[in-house]
This record gives sequence, C-alpha cells and structure tokens, in this order.
Amino acid sequence: MKVLVINAGSSSLKYQMLDMETETLMAKGLAERIGIEGSVVTHQPAGGKKVTFTRPMDTHKEALDIIMKALVDPNHGVIKSLDEIDAVGHRTVHGAETFASSVVINEEVIEKMEECSVLAPLHNPANLIGIRACQELLPGVPMVGVFDTAFHQSMKPEAYIYALPYELYEKYRIRKYGFHGTSHRFVSLQAAKLMGKKPEDVKLISCHLGNGASIAAINGGKVVDTSMGLTPLAGLVMGTRCGDIDPEIMIFLRQNGYTTEELDRMMNKESGVLGISGVSSDFRDLEASAAEGNKRAQLALDVFNYHVVTTIGAYVAALNGVDGIIFTAGVGENSATTRQAICEKISYLGITIDPDKNAQRGEEMIISTPDSKTTVMVIPTNEELMIARDTVELVNA
Ligand code: ADP
Repeated sequence: MKVLVINAGSSSLKYQMLDMETETLMAKGLAERIGIEGSVVTHQPAGGKKVTFTRPMDTHKEALDIIMKALVDPNHGVIKSLDEIDAVGHRTVHGAETFASSVVINEEVIEKMEECSVLAPLHNPANLIGIRACQELLPGVPMVGVFDTAFHQSMKPEAYIYALPYELYEKYRIRKYGFHGTSHRFVSLQAAKLMGKKPEDVKLISCHLGNGASIAAINGGKVVDTSMGLTPLAGLVMGTRCGDIDPEIMIFLRQNGYTTEELDRMMNKESGVLGISGVSSDFRDLEASAAEGNKRAQLALDVFNYHVVTTIGAYVAALNGVDGIIFTAGVGENSATTRQAICEKISYLGITIDPDKNAQRGEEMIISTPDSKTTVMVIPTNEELMIARDTVELVNA
C-alpha cells in the first residue's frame, strides 16, 4: 500500500510518499511560499537528487498539482501514475475534545474540524485547505486525519483543567490539550519495543525537544500529563517561544503600551532561547557561542535545561516513578551536551549515561548503561510514518 502523507501549513505544504509494505520512504518534499512571491517546490526522491520547481503558486491546490506531477515524472518521479496512491494521511493539528484518535475523513469530520478551528486559527484552516486540495486532485482516494492533540486526550480533568472560572471551559473549551501527540506516540511505542516491554507495562517520559518543545508523561501507553496547553506556547522554554510565564506579565506590558499583536509576536517569535541569548534560536549557534564564552548564550541553555529537568521531576511525580526517558526531535536527537546536562541533573533517578553511546547520532538507541535504574533513550521521531501507519490501519479496517 502506498500512502501520501501531507502536512499543510498556511503558506507551506510538506509531503512524503511511503511504501507501507516495507515502511520505506519513496520521496519527500516541500512547497514553500504558497500565495507569496517566490513560491517553490523542492522534491527529493529517496536516494536521489533534489529538484526544485520555482513558479507562481497561488493556492495549495496549485502546489499539490506540481507535487503530483513531480511524483509521476519519468526522471525524478517514484510512481507511474497517481492511481498508485492508495490513501492520503493528513497531519491535522487541533482535534479539541472531538477527536481522541485518528479518523477517516468524510464531510462530517471536515465539519467537526472546522468547529475545532477556533482553537487553532492558524493551523486547522490550513490543514483543511490541504484536505480539500487532495479531494479535488485525488478524487475517491481515502484520506485519514491524524491529530496532534489526540494522544493527549487520555489526560484526566485534574491535569487538563486550568484554575480559571469553570464557565470558560464550558463556554470556550479552554483547557490543556497538548501537542506533538503523534511524535510522543511514535517514540513511546518505539521506546517500549527497545526496552523489550509492552507499551501497557511501562512508565515513560517523552522529551520532544526541537524548535517547539514539549514533554509528555505516559503510563501504560496513555498520556497522564503534557507540557503544552491550550496552545503550543505553553510549557518549556523553546527556540523562540517563552513557554510558561506569569500571565500577569502580559497585563503589565499591555498597560505599558504594548499592543496585543506585539505581545503575541514577542511571546511566539522573539522569546525562548533566542530572547534570552540575543544570539539565535538554533542550539548549534548557542552551543558554539557559549563555548566562545558568551554568557547569555550559556544562560539560555541553562534556563532551557532547567525547565526540562523540573518538568521531568513533575512528571516522575505524576507517574509515581518512571522506567524510561526518551529524547527526540532536533535538539533531543542531536545535542549530546544537552542530553548530558539534563541527565546529570536527574541523577536521583539512578541514571548513568554511557558517554560513547551518547556521542552517537541518528540511530534509535539506549544511551544509559545496563545498570542504570532508569533507561534513557534517543529515538528519532517520525511523525510521517506514524501518520502513514494510522492511515493504513484505518483504511484497511
Ligand atoms: P521543529 O520544531 O521546527 O520541527 P526540529 O525538531 O527540526 O524543530 O528541531 C530543530 C532544532 O534542532 C534546530 O533549531 C536546532 O536548535 C536543533 N538542532 C539540530 N541539529 C542540531 C545539532 N547537531 N546540535 C544541536 N542542536 C541541533
């Protein structure tokens, strides 16, 4: 079965074509600047060279049309005809309380997704545009929606209710939802396998540390708590997002002349490790700058690590113990120094890291020593594969 995975953003569209008989990547690519000057599609067949198509693309449908042509192109294509696409899996951001698992997309699901858009006004409408474009270009091909929030729907009210007037939850559904659910689900399933255990039998803390960062506490395959909230701004310090702060700060700044738009931009794009360091949101730049003696770059890394450490501590409490800790995403998979710094601060869990294993990259592996009381793992995330697996399962059901 061949599955096309689509991740549609407001001006971009990422895709992967996967052969699910062997779970191998056939091609991947990205359409950027859709509807903006300088639109471009970058297409890469697995093991082949990247090709770019620079031409005006006013809509996602136009971008998708170029992608479809690239997929069947005799030179850099990977299928002979579009009939070979058996199903499409869509990354969908906000499923609110409506979607606790992946679903086959039909008109009723689309309507419900539209209702969820109030909670993710930047993301859900873009996902829906991607879905509509696929409906037009691949009529009759079954499609599945895989929500970022779904895995976290197992949280109990004690974890997801904010201590605001309860009417706000009733009226607007303001509560903690959590994001990166597809990634946390993928790496936690892989981690259980790596530990030689069933997902039902392990307590895991999954640290998805990328540009966006979140942690999930998972007991027996079910999320107990997670660090992002109503929106992906909450929780950890991130590349450019502030994570948890005293909410009164924003009222203070509003009263001191900052506009709502300025505050929104500040919290989402100008804060995090970029805001603290004034150097970069990229951990490679921060590590290099800190090594050259830049104190604020070091401070940014220290603050980031501190929040990861205290969140892990909170989740050890929420789980009443932990068997395994997972590092994933750009920073979690690649930064040995970040993993080392974090693990040194949670030595109370009986963790010993094998420095040689911690220095390796790109592979799923246990980086703690065999006698370590808690297993520490690096698991490269693969949200697209998780989406494709769900798609195959639901389409074949
Ligand atoms: P996103 O949230 O955008 O999906 P990623 O998971 O791709 O982010 O993570 C991107 C981040 O990973 C980069 O901004 C950078 O900080 C970090 N990163 C990537 N490679 C390395 C590396 N070799 N060392 C340290 N950090 C890295």
